[in-house]
Amino acid sequence: MTEMNYYSLNKQAPNTSFKDAVIKGLAPDKGLYFPENITPLPQSFWDDIDNLSYSEMAYEAIKQFVSPEIPEYVLKTIVEETLSFDFPVIKLNDNISTLELFHGPTMAFKDVGARFMARCLGYFNKDNTNEVTVLVATSGDTGGAVANGFLGVKGVNVVILYPSGKVSDIQEMQLTTLGQNIKALEVNGTFDDCQAMVKTAFLDEELISKMQLTSANSINVARWLPQLFYFMFAYKQLHKAHNNIVFSVPSGNFGNICAGMMAQQLGLPISHFVASNNENNVVTRYLMSKLYEPKPSVQTISNAMDVGAPSNFIRIQEIYKNKFDTLKGNLSSYSFTDEETREAMLEIYNKYNYVADPHGAVGYLGCKAYLKENPKAHCVFLETAHPTKFLEVVEDVIKKEQPLPKQIQSVMGREKESVIISTYEDLKGFLLK
Ligand SMILES: *Cc1c(COP(=O)(O)O)cnc(C)c1O
Repeated sequence: MTEMNYYSLNKQAPNTSFKDAVIKGLAPDKGLYFPENITPLPQSFWDDIDNLSYSEMAYEAIKQFVSPEIPEYVLKTIVEETLSFDFPVIKLNDNISTLELFHGPTMAFKDVGARFMARCLGYFNKDNTNEVTVLVATSGDTGGAVANGFLGVKGVNVVILYPSGKVSDIQEMQLTTLGQNIKALEVNGTFDDCQAMVKTAFLDEELISKMQLTSANSINVARWLPQLFYFMFAYKQLHKAHNNIVFSVPSGNFGNICAGMMAQQLGLPISHFVASNNENNVVTRYLMSKLYEPKPSVQTISNAMDVGAPSNFIRIQEIYKNKFDTLKGNLSSYSFTDEETREAMLEIYNKYNYVADPHGAVGYLGCKAYLKENPKAHCVFLETAHPTKFLEVVEDVIKKEQPLPKQIQSVMGREKESVIISTYEDLKGFLLK
């Protein structure tokens, strides 16, 4: 197999290999990396899908993006270890299902990308004496998933920035209590401030001359691409019963939905995507007005989607060759208030006896809005996190105490360790110390 190259979407940096793209995170010209080719899987793959395991499907799908730098037998193990939990689709009614992505160790979909990336980086680093520092900003779930995925990985230090007081208690425990090679920085500011500091660090010549920094946000190809797996898993579970499958993806940085679009590029027969937003709705507005106008983020109850300027939208533009009409033909977007989200959580509970978290509930609302115009579709909303990660809101809305799963119990009561910072200089000082 020929080597897959990645190019920078800013087009001012040389093409690079998968390995370098993973280690660098962002290209030197600040662009996101994008694969040079996307070769659809053969029809025989899709015809045979009922006979393939999830690991086999995932391996076939991801192989072209990482070969030959990770040998086949290593990649097979990485994929199997990454996917060591369930991805069930739960049917709510004839037109709506939910794909539960919260059965991993931190109970958020980000476990998949974080586990895959940690194993890739661990492989690349196995004979290397230079330490890599993974620097990551989190609006809530990334931090925990990355901390868990990278815990104990040799030669890798993890530094997580999170907005003080703006993540849930359980999320905070997941990212501040692990110790070892994981450090949490509590930022006086918003998620956008955290993300800006991380971006500044990647461009800081002095800093990057002294340490190898990489990112584990969905800008990193090894975090982003494996997220295409579970769109295929949902299809496998539904394709016999439904032929008009639409995914509604609760979106923040748009990495998850963009990975779904990559699955579609590989030939996955999906009819349409719905980007479901809270009031941080730059894409909803873009599809209406053709004007892309990022705004500072506002805080909502679906905090992992409180993103004012989604970093992966540029990859979506690339997939559709910057053609607005092609994009619009494949993507709808709706945005919902916190009040609508709460009502939806209650409706899902009362009608279907199902407990959704606020992000999933936004996805459910996206399905309902889309189905109004397209009543024949079968819409799958992604349940991106377990409801108990947002315990306060969930119990307040449905008025019923929620049992805590073992993954959550295991972090409760552990001691929090974090360092409070306010400025980029604080961050730099911490990193160079
Ligand atoms: C990260 C996250 C999202 C948003 O995903 P993107 O890939 O950033 O669009 C949605 N829901 C939850 C629970 C998340 O943690």
